[in-house]
Amino acid sequence: MLSQKIQDALNEQIKDEFYSAYLYLAMSAYSEATNLPGFARWMRLQGQEEVSHAMKLFDYINDRGGRALLGAIDRPPAEFKSPLDLFEQALEHERQITGKIHALYQLATQTNDYPTQVMLHWFIEEQVEEEKSASQIVAQLKLVGDHIPPILMMDHRLGQRAGE
Ligand code: MG
Repeated sequence: MLSQKIQDALNEQIKDEFYSAYLYLAMSAYSEATNLPGFARWMRLQGQEEVSHAMKLFDYINDRGGRALLGAIDRPPAEFKSPLDLFEQALEHERQITGKIHALYQLATQTNDYPTQVMLHWFIEEQVEEEKSASQIVAQLKLVGDHIPPILMMDHRLGQRAGE
C-alpha cells in the first residue's frame, strides 16, 4: 500500500506530466501557425510521450492499491518568440521536471518505499534523455541564428521523428 505522502506526490507528478503534454501541444500549435510543420510534429509527438508518462504513474498508483486523483492543469503559454525560444523553454521545463522527479525519489528514499524508488529509475533515465535532446536542439538553433534555410533544414529533420 502506498503512503498518503507518496500517493499525493505521485498525483502531483501526474498533473505535471499532463501539463508537459499541454505545453508541448501549445508549442506544436505555434509551430503549425508559423509554417514549421516539422517542429510541429516533433512537439506533438513529445506531447503524446508526456501523456504516456502520466499514464505510467496513473497505472503505478493503481497497481499499488492507491487512488489516482487528477488535479487542474494550468493553461500553457500560447505565444513564443522563435524556434529557439520554443526549445529554450522546453529545456527549462524539462530541467524543472527533472528536479521534481529527483524530489520524488528523495521522498521515496526517506520513507523506505522501495517499489516507488525502482519505478522512478525509469523516469530518472528518461529525464537524462529529455534534457539531452532539448539541449542539442537549442545548441543547433543557436548556431543557425536567424538564417531561414538552415531553420527549414532543421524543420525537415525534426519532422522525421518517429512515432504515431
Ligand atoms: Mg515527462
